[in-house]
Amino acid sequence: MSLTFTPMSEIPKIVQGLRSTFSANLTKPLEYRKQQLRGLYNLLAENDAAIREAVFNDLHKSPQELMIGESGVLKQECIDAIKNLDKWAANRSVKTSIVNKFDNVHIRKDPLGMVLIIGAWNYPLNLLLAPAVGAIAAGNTVLLKPSEVAPHTAVLLTKLLPMYLDQRAYRIVNGGPEETTLLLEHKFDHIFFTGSGQVGRVIMMAAAKQLTSVTLELGGKSPTFIARDVDIAITARRLCWGKFFNCGQTCIAPDYVIVERGIEDKLLEACKASIQEFYGSAVQASSSYGRIVNASHVRRLRGLLSETKGQKIVLGGEIDEEDRFFPPTFVMGVEKGDKLMEGEIFGPILPIMVVDRLVEGVKYVNSMDQPLALYVFSKNKKAIDYILDHTRSGGVVVNDALVHFIVSNLPFGGTGPSGIGNYHGKRSFDVFSHERSALIKTMGMEKLLDLRYPVRQPLFFFFFFNILTAYTQVSKHSDFLLLLLLFIYFYGRK
Ligand code: NAD
Repeated sequence: MSLTFTPMSEIPKIVQGLRSTFSANLTKPLEYRKQQLRGLYNLLAENDAAIREAVFNDLHKSPQELMIGESGVLKQECIDAIKNLDKWAANRSVKTSIVNKFDNVHIRKDPLGMVLIIGAWNYPLNLLLAPAVGAIAAGNTVLLKPSEVAPHTAVLLTKLLPMYLDQRAYRIVNGGPEETTLLLEHKFDHIFFTGSGQVGRVIMMAAAKQLTSVTLELGGKSPTFIARDVDIAITARRLCWGKFFNCGQTCIAPDYVIVERGIEDKLLEACKASIQEFYGSAVQASSSYGRIVNASHVRRLRGLLSETKGQKIVLGGEIDEEDRFFPPTFVMGVEKGDKLMEGEIFGPILPIMVVDRLVEGVKYVNSMDQPLALYVFSKNKKAIDYILDHTRSGGVVVNDALVHFIVSNLPFGGTGPSGIGNYHGKRSFDVFSHERSALIKTMGMEKLLDLRYPVRQPLFFFFFFNILTAYTQVSKHSDFLLLLLLFIYFYGRK
């Protein structure tokens, strides 16, 4: 499938159009935003078969994986935003001191303006449209840049989006680094990027030139701790599900395992049993097992495997480059400094590091960049707390993998090199909103303002005022008292 890139000459016109639409206030009314979110929901609901086909062609994604990781969560995001928009967008009153008792002091939720969303290829629908839900709900105009590495999905979205969303406010630009570089020369009001840390740096540098804020959803090596006390069969099922979902091409996939010595062989046997249960003995023939996105990534993974010094490599089949098939692969006895422990694996290879005590694993994890996710399998609360208290990561799950991604009330994002900012649910709305401080002052009560003007007051007044203000900190009813005294003082004077 060939994806037609947007001609470079079109890009400035598209950007200008979105800017004008925002200036015309078209996207601000809440009813308009809800209507567009309903459009996005309908796009997903009415084109299920076409979406399934496109994502299958890109990644051999099964309908079950598509529903769990992409269309199901996306529809839920749309429903949540439509249902809660009035509440999310409402002004929020803030507590004030006595000085502003007669004023209307609140926080407005204003849209940021025109925003750019750049997606990655591994969840080509979700990573582009989930942030878009937040951006639309918050009242922005939006420019979407899908990943060119998942061309079937990009082509389908380019066709469908204008049928369901207002083209004056929401546009797609297709392209690779060259087109994206041109896009980044324009001034956006926020850039939401999902992808590698390497390109994340390019995005942030371009944004800095325009003083544009960024959200960076990046990757990293997410460790999985496995303690001696676990139920090995259950742990293996959950671990293998998380690792081999989308053929290991998930930003929060367990990247490597740190297991306590003594159970490593049993764990490996249990993992082999789980693979057999999930995908059968001929994994390549399974409709539930995905494919690597392209041949160059197959070669990258094969290269990693050829350079590992792990003691035992267990493969669930032959690598088939033409079919982009890479089998579930375990590498036992991997140590610090191994090729597999350098960068994010982003594929179905699971290195297993064996340690005498999990504390050693904690030290190892802390010697690396903070990961996007961290997993712990254990029954021991003390051990779990120790690991959580002594490590850092974007998110953490105990006794499972990946599932925090689908809880919309949990902010999803990294920390340090695994990302900046987070989203999902109401957080997505907040990411694309500006909290604008508003103070609407009454024109009355001018006399009370004598306090701030350089009008001469007797010294005892300030002394008295300070004591009363301090008293207001401890007494519930003293605001009223203070106000009354000020009122009498200022209005009672000649
Ligand atoms: P990538 O960084 O190569 O590409 C991401 C996007 O940036 C694409 O749309 C691409 O066209 C664009 N791009 C590529 N090179 C560019 C350049 N030089 N200038 C401007 N734009 C450029 O990432 P990818 O290969 O699509 O995705 C894999 C990475 O994304 C992994 O590291 C993974 O962990 C991470 N990821 C993170 C999340 C998350 O939610 N945190 C989700 C999925 C993937």
